[in-house]
Amino acid sequence: MTKSGSAIKVLFVTTELAPFSKVGGLGDVAGSLPKALLQADVDVRVVTPAWPGVLERVAASGVKTSMAKSNVYAAYDWRIHSANVIKADVKGVTTYFLDAEDYSGDMYPHQLNFWTASPFAVFCMQALELKNAIDWEPDIYHCHDWTSAFLPCALAWHRHYRQVGGRSVMTLHNVAYQGIFEPSPFLEASGLEPWSFSQSTMEFYGQVNLLKGGIVSATAVTTVSPTYANEIQTYESTRELSGILSQQRGKLRGILNGLDTKFWNSEKDKQLPARFTSKDFKGKVTCRKALLQKAGFDQETQDPIIVCVSRLAEQKGFDMVMNGIDEIVKMGAKIMILGSGQDWIENGLNAAVAKYPNSVKFFRGYDEPLSHLLYAGGDMFLMPSVFEPCGLSQMISMRYGTVPVVREVGGLRDTVFDVDDPNGRKNGFTFQTCDTEGMLWALRRAVERYKTNPDQWREIMVEGMSEDFTWDKSAELYKQMYEEMLQ
Ligand code: ADP
Repeated sequence: MTKSGSAIKVLFVTTELAPFSKVGGLGDVAGSLPKALLQADVDVRVVTPAWPGVLERVAASGVKTSMAKSNVYAAYDWRIHSANVIKADVKGVTTYFLDAEDYSGDMYPHQLNFWTASPFAVFCMQALELKNAIDWEPDIYHCHDWTSAFLPCALAWHRHYRQVGGRSVMTLHNVAYQGIFEPSPFLEASGLEPWSFSQSTMEFYGQVNLLKGGIVSATAVTTVSPTYANEIQTYESTRELSGILSQQRGKLRGILNGLDTKFWNSEKDKQLPARFTSKDFKGKVTCRKALLQKAGFDQETQDPIIVCVSRLAEQKGFDMVMNGIDEIVKMGAKIMILGSGQDWIENGLNAAVAKYPNSVKFFRGYDEPLSHLLYAGGDMFLMPSVFEPCGLSQMISMRYGTVPVVREVGGLRDTVFDVDDPNGRKNGFTFQTCDTEGMLWALRRAVERYKTNPDQWREIMVEGMSEDFTWDKSAELYKQMYEEMLQ
C-alpha cells in the first residue's frame, strides 16, 4: 500500500514477454510475475515493444486489444519517435504493446552500436511517457536487464526526465549482458547530461555500459536468486561489474524466481501426448515413448534419458557436455538436447550425433511444444552451467518428474539439493567443480541410482514434483521492497 492506502502502482518495463516474445528466462518472468503481484494487491501493468510477429501472436491467442487515446512520443536523436499504444488484457494483466518503426528489426542485435542500441533507449523514454497516453501513472518503474536499463539512467541524468523524477527498480536477470557500445553519438543524441558519462556512472573502459548505468542510478536493484546476489559481488561472470555491484550492495537483494505453475503443469499440459501426477506416472511413460519415437530411438529402451533444453551459450556449460559425451554413452544413457545458439556448440553437438547416432540426439531450434515433451519424457535434466542467475529449466523439469543434475551455482544452488547430502531436500544430483569430471561424477551417481534403485528414484521424482515453485513467496518480497521504496 502507498501512504494514502491505495495499491502501489508498478509499471513493468520489459523487452520480452512470454508467450508473445520470449528469448529466455526474462520472458518467462515478465509473463508470470505480474500475475502473482496482482494477487498480492500490487497494481501492476506491463509495457513491451511490439516486435515483429508479436501483435499477430497476441491476436492468435484470442486476447482482445484496443488503442489507447493517444500515441506516446519520445525525443531522441533530434527527432520525435512516436508509437501506437495497443492495450490488452493478458490473463488479467493490463499490458501495453508499443507498435512503432523502432521495433521493426530483430529483437536483439548481433552487434551493439549507437543505431542498434537506439530502439532500447527510445523504448525506455516511451515507457516514461506512457502515463500521458493512459489515465494511470506508476509509482515505480520496474526495469529488467540492460535492454530497459536506460530508464533509471534517464530518471537520474536526462535533461528533461531528471526534473520529472521517479523511482525505479533494476532487476538483473543476467549480469553477463550489459549493453556496451561506443559513446558517440549516443551521449549527444540521448539527451543525457554530459556528467552521466563518468567512471562512477555509466562509463566503462571508454564505452557506454547501460547496465552499469542502470545499477548505479536505480532506486533499488534486485537479482533473481539469493546465491547469485552474493556471487555477482565477486564473481567473474559479471564481466568486471562486480566492483560496482559490491559498492551498491546496500540496495541489492536476491529474490528467487518462481514459475507459472499453471502453465508448467504435468497434470494439465495440453502440449503433451499424456498427462500425469506424482501418484501415477503412466502418462510419463507415454511421454517417454513419444520422445524416444521423436528422436528415432528404440521406444522400449530402459536406458535413462538425459535431456537439456537450453540456449546454446558458453554460460550453459556445453563444452563439459561435449567433452563428456564418450563417458555419457559408456554409462549406457541416451542424451537429447534441444537448443540453438553459438555455432561452435551446434557443430560440436552435430559431431556427437554423427559419432553416436543411437545415443545422442540434437534437436536444433527453438520449439516450445517439443520442450514440453523433453521436460516430461526425460528421466534426468542436465544443467552444468558455468554461472546461472536463477535458471527456470531445472524447476520446470522437477514439475515433470525429471530429476535435475546441475552444478551448484547461482539459482541452481538455491533450488536443487543433492540426494546424497544428509541435510538436503533430496530432489536432484549436484556437483561443484566447473569441469567435465565434476559433471560426470554427478551424472554417474544419477545413472547408477536410476538403474539400481527404482524406489529411491521414484522418491526423488516425487520430492521434485512437490516443491513449491509458485511466485507467492517472492511476490510478497517484491511487494515489501516496493513498500520500502515509497516510505
Ligand atoms: P536463460 O534465461 O538463461 O535462457 P532459464 O533456465 O532461466 O535460462 O530459462 C530458459 C527458458 O527458455 C525455459 O523456459 C526454457 O524451457 C526455454 N528454452 C530455452 N531454449 C529453448 C528452446 N530451444 N526451445 C524451447 N524453449 C527453450
